[in-house]
Amino acid sequence: MKSHLLPAHYGSANAVNALFKDKNTGWETIPRFFKNPEEVLLQAENKIFRVNMERFLQLAVGIKGLIELPHAAFDILGTEVEPIYVGVCSQELEIFLDWMHLGPWEQHTFTEGQLVDLFYVGSLFISKQATDWVLHELEQLNLDPARKLGLALKFGICRWVEPSIKELFVRPAYCYTVEERVNMGYQAASILANAQLRVQTERIRRATIPPPINNGFGARECRYYGADHDQSRCAEYWDTLWFIEVGRKLINPVRPLLFAEAVGFVQGLPFEGVTSQCRDIGLDSLNVAFGDIDADILHHVIGKMIDLLPMSAYST
Ligand SMILES: [Zn+2]
Repeated sequence: MKSHLLPAHYGSANAVNALFKDKNTGWETIPRFFKNPEEVLLQAENKIFRVNMERFLQLAVGIKGLIELPHAAFDILGTEVEPIYVGVCSQELEIFLDWMHLGPWEQHTFTEGQLVDLFYVGSLFISKQATDWVLHELEQLNLDPARKLGLALKFGICRWVEPSIKELFVRPAYCYTVEERVNMGYQAASILANAQLRVQTERIRRATIPPPINNGFGARECRYYGADHDQSRCAEYWDTLWFIEVGRKLINPVRPLLFAEAVGFVQGLPFEGVTSQCRDIGLDSLNVAFGDIDADILHHVIGKMIDLLPMSAYST
């Protein structure tokens, strides 16, 4: 096969002139005809692609690190004699070039899987334009939260973590389908399941152990004040009302009372039979004891997931 004299991708007039000089051809370029680099041939696996190298380099700034030039002869590189070898799967390069050739107003036909492949190869090529575009397109698809969380954890997409987790967390982890578990990944599924178990454990604990009034001594104004307050009628009413009114709601299997709502709910209860000062002290301690346990656990889960994100342009 006859080799090309001109390296197709060295498009500037000066570069080409320098080459002519080296080869002693006596030729010279007319600069205005050398403004645009020519197309070059790329190879990925056994597939050959033709591409405008200047545009390709603009969109894929990381490509240089992936191009292998072991014994490339300067003047035949990028031609059919020696295509530029790119170390990715041919399918991935194809998708990238398809995207690159997509007109600005043209409707794309990428499937969800192809978009994910394009994101992968776009990250590899450090092509922010490609990965930004993919994220935007994937967001239009309304992926289910498990799939979104799995992709976020795979590619480091921070902005998808919190909304996916909030959607997933409202359903018990044991109801997640096998597909959902596969999509979100083993680690995410276990973090969610453990966190839900923790919420359940807190619910049961707080439903069955009424908060002690003044460490079990009761209010000073209560006539049962002292070490035996726990055995008094005042404490008995407090405990009973707690089990019946609050505990049952905290562990309601269908719609459990949220910890954040519990304090307000309890404050509205009369607690008849409980000395008013004991009631006030008991209710005051709830703010500290309950706080916002659900939200705290949820934030903890989100933090853990964010810690798992691989580094990417979207991981912070
Ligand atoms: Zn009391």
